[in-house]
Amino acid sequence: MLTSETVKARARELGFDLCGIAAAADHPRLPFLREWIDRGYAGEMGYLARTAERRADVRAVMPSARSVVVLGTLYNTDRPYSTEIGDPGEALISRYAWGDDYHDVLGARTDALSQWMIQSHGAALDTRAYVDTGPVQEKLYAEQAGLGWVGKNTCLISPDLGSWLFLSEILCSASLVADEPGLDQCGTCTLCLDACPTGAFPEPGVLDATRCLSYLTIETKGDIPGSDRPGLSNHIYGCDICQEVCPYNHGAPVTDDPVWQPREALDRPRLAELWTRSDAELRDAIRHGAMMRVRVKRLRRNVAVALGNSGTDEAASALDPAAAERVDAGAVDEPLVAGHVAWARARLADR
Ligand code: SF4
Ligand code: SF4
Repeated sequence: MLTSETVKARARELGFDLCGIAAAADHPRLPFLREWIDRGYAGEMGYLARTAERRADVRAVMPSARSVVVLGTLYNTDRPYSTEIGDPGEALISRYAWGDDYHDVLGARTDALSQWMIQSHGAALDTRAYVDTGPVQEKLYAEQAGLGWVGKNTCLISPDLGSWLFLSEILCSASLVADEPGLDQCGTCTLCLDACPTGAFPEPGVLDATRCLSYLTIETKGDIPGSDRPGLSNHIYGCDICQEVCPYNHGAPVTDDPVWQPREALDRPRLAELWTRSDAELRDAIRHGAMMRVRVKRLRRNVAVALGNSGTDEAASALDPAAAERVDAGAVDEPLVAGHVAWARARLADR
């Protein structure tokens, strides 16, 4: 029989750490997305503007939707936070991208729950499952489903597990009993707003994505604007600072699920070491991981900028033209990469 309780029990069996139910209904913060886009905060992410109307209500995606089952999966591992690493020669990669691609892993688990729901329901049941890529404002639904609250850093924070959580969801046509929404527990804290190195929060709970290092290193397809490059410091894929400083992530639990453990090649690599890998080696390192999103060319672009920012002799050696020839024929001459290498060399020369 399909009830909120049986869905949650099955979700636990499938490995999800959190499961809650939200009603597919009007929620007060859903319409803000349109204003956020109109303010220009989405930058190059045109897909958000194109799907804004559908993102305003899951019933625009699936008219029969009555409930949203929201699932949380902890991905935190036992490695130190980037803010604890004082070495500018180390490459900083967002924690969520260290292991296997969450779209694949959670896609399979979420589909399994969706299939189980269909089989358990006595009558016909419409479902639609998403992992991040669907037109669903999943953090707001997660809050409505009682998984936690959307903090001033715009992340979903569980009072028990912190914010190192992947979210996925299943829209379904059954009216399941909804959970109480999560309560905002940020209080007077402003640690995340104060710690952001680029001032990406124009106001609490509102992110100007165009200023965020995650956007600059992942979403920006062409040149990273010159004025933004120093702010990348040694981040080559995403940024975790506004989560790391959050008190709810201090002593956050870690998972032993092997799929989220850092791959050897992405386990605290040095910038110079990444740079001197061939394109084929870099491709292998990110294959079936979230970092495939940027592909090798943009990854190398980001590493070049980070090497320039690191200011180390190691970086200068790695970017030395003689060494560059050894890196990979053509890899460094690629126009997107070459422009950032020239910038990095000039920055290192100015040390
Ligand atoms: S991820 Fe980094 S750059 Fe982006 S808002 Fe958070 S602290 Fe700022
Ligand atoms: S750092 Fe403080 S203000 Fe920011 S999300 Fe965490 S609790 Fe909220």
